[in-house]
Amino acid sequence: MDIKIFKQVPRIVFGRGAIDGLAHVLDDFRKNSYIVFIVDHVHKTTGLLELLKIEKNDEIILADTSDEPKTTQIDALRDEILVSKSGQIPDLVVGIGGGSAMDIAKAVSVMLTNEGSSTRYQGWDLVKNKAVPKIAIPTLSGTGAEASRTSVLTGKDKKFGINSDQSMFDLVLMDPDLIENVPNEQRFYTGMDCYIHCVESIEGSFINAFGLVQAKGALDLCEKVFIEGGDNEDMMVASYLGGASVANSEVGVVHAMSYGLSLILGFHHGIANCIAFNQLEEFYPDYVPLFRKMMEISSITLPESVTNNLNERQLSAMVAMTRRMERPLTSALGNEWQDILSEEKIRELYLKM
Ligand code: NAD
Ligand code: ZN
Repeated sequence: MDIKIFKQVPRIVFGRGAIDGLAHVLDDFRKNSYIVFIVDHVHKTTGLLELLKIEKNDEIILADTSDEPKTTQIDALRDEILVSKSGQIPDLVVGIGGGSAMDIAKAVSVMLTNEGSSTRYQGWDLVKNKAVPKIAIPTLSGTGAEASRTSVLTGKDKKFGINSDQSMFDLVLMDPDLIENVPNEQRFYTGMDCYIHCVESIEGSFINAFGLVQAKGALDLCEKVFIEGGDNEDMMVASYLGGASVANSEVGVVHAMSYGLSLILGFHHGIANCIAFNQLEEFYPDYVPLFRKMMEISSITLPESVTNNLNERQLSAMVAMTRRMERPLTSALGNEWQDILSEEKIRELYLKM
């Protein structure tokens, strides 16, 4: 048996109203410095800012998540924080929002103590120095970023994660009330990211016994949420377990294709996954029909023909992005994945989307 050492989030604060205990949580991390709050810009108007226990020297950064996190954005944020605090490192970084805000918080915490550009650390286990402690407060569930050891960043020609133990949160505060007002479409798309993580984990060969239980549990919860009308607690737990399951497995063909849609066409991750999954029934025949049923129940209509106006350069870049996803494709299709998913086949699939 392969021996695997994996880090987990050491502390979780979970339950309705958990946000009211935030001051205690922050006290545990406060030393002599300040705290950086990276908050999704949507919360400028939701009232959440008033619930944060901010002290004089703390810094609030409202993160514009109209586009997914970029390496240039992370580098600039890190520089901005250090300049405004005369080089002083914060005690803690807090990420508040969906996958984007949480990934920004992860990446900033890593880049505050590691030299150069974040592009240097996109890959597996490239981070050298210990990151600044960080906590997550999800306000949108599905990506599992709160549980995972990656921070996904888009650079000039690739979308790739900083996969490292240093990308993991030291604490996650999960308050189901905080996802109450997410609009229906967003809730569905990000919720399906979780469903797809589970499907890809379960169907991939890289899964181990831990991952299988987590993925099956999260898959059941997603089906409960999107078929029977499960609640916010179910969705939050599903997201966490789905993220944890990927740490014990790998994503698969859907993510390998959806990254191309995000990189070149700018689709956000959740909707990109849905557009890709909808055309991948031959790889996931047991799940795509149920996905379509969930879409119908949630009254979701996917955009069609999104690749119609691509030029050759764009299409080639998308195909190249997919082919870079070797680990997921090996987990999904085996070592000979290129025989099954040739360049021509990837092209054909993209053109159906
Ligand atoms: P997101 O964080 O990009 O947010 C989507 C939209 O929802 C934004 O407009 C945001 O303002 C809004 N929003 C967030 N909370 C809200 C609330 N409570 N009420 C109303 N609106 C709210 O979406 P996401 O799907 O959570 O995250 C996508 C990102 O996560 C992508 O960059 C993707 O690559 C990344 N991701 C990371 C991991 C990981 O393990 N690190 C896994 C999967 C995806
Ligand atoms: Zn995903």
